[in-house]
Amino acid sequence: MIFEGLASKLQATLKKLRNKGKLSGKDVKSALKEVKLALLEADVNYKVVKQFIKRVQERAVGHEVMESLTPGQQVIKIVNDELTELMGGNKSDLSISSKPPTIIMLVGLQGAGKTTSAAKLARFLKKKGKKPLLVAGDIYRPAAIKQLQVLGDRLDIPVFSMGDKNSPVDISKAGISKAESNGNDVVIIDTAGRLHIDEEMMDELKSIKSNVRPHEILLVVDAMTGQDAVNVAENFSESLGIDGIILTKLDGDARGGAALSIKAVTGKPIKFVGMGEKLDALESFHPDRMSSRILG
Ligand code: GDP
Repeated sequence: MIFEGLASKLQATLKKLRNKGKLSGKDVKSALKEVKLALLEADVNYKVVKQFIKRVQERAVGHEVMESLTPGQQVIKIVNDELTELMGGNKSDLSISSKPPTIIMLVGLQGAGKTTSAAKLARFLKKKGKKPLLVAGDIYRPAAIKQLQVLGDRLDIPVFSMGDKNSPVDISKAGISKAESNGNDVVIIDTAGRLHIDEEMMDELKSIKSNVRPHEILLVVDAMTGQDAVNVAENFSESLGIDGIILTKLDGDARGGAALSIKAVTGKPIKFVGMGEKLDALESFHPDRMSSRILG
């Protein structure tokens, strides 16, 4: 089960409401108190939790009445709707350029799953009929270039690399030229990460950004790191500017705090989620489906 602790607590709380024919204000209040606790225990950002509970409360005691649902079911529907909204409402797609190649730049801290996600995304787009080219721009982590090449070989997707002696800007530009001459309609650039955000890394990313003008900058963050992931996203969003997020390792024992806070805090949508180490374990992110998965 995804976000096991959170999901089982929310499900238990809402189950108590489901079959009630009549709901008093007190019933709703005590249920929402339990929902609040469950969200906080799952490491959801405190302000986000407060606003969420407020919105649910307002709607639950408001005049929203749907004849077909019991009062308990109505509260459950409101929680479901608001959870969906919290995670971005609608699914957020990649922006594909009308003038190929579409350039996608992946950024993030070391270990978040950037290189793996680059390959997964290339596979995902290939399945959709695109012809991606992977560009090995992480010249600092010794094994990153080799890792990308191995993954590209496995997927039968070309990988452009110039070793580690050229600047990531030059590698990216040459990669894009290569894509143009080869007829690749998507370029996915893997960039260097560090253990922590530092100015040098950010400057390099900014320089790639201003030189290649990507259509999408996707930040890769590890869901297991909870609010740290949210802070990283806030930082990248402010310093570099990002278009969306790939949230990895949702198959692990992440508590849910990152998934539920990141859009509300940064304003940037989760576009994909990583559900495992295998290369087919990348899914488009659907807020409504995730909400239903959590609420059971
Ligand atoms: P990078 O330093 O950001 O490029 O990170 P890597 O792509 O090398 O990934 C770091 C580790 O996380 C590797 O062992 C990956 O297999 C693993 N990983 C990446 N994405 C996922 C995921 O969605 N689920 C799981 N369980 N592991 C992942």
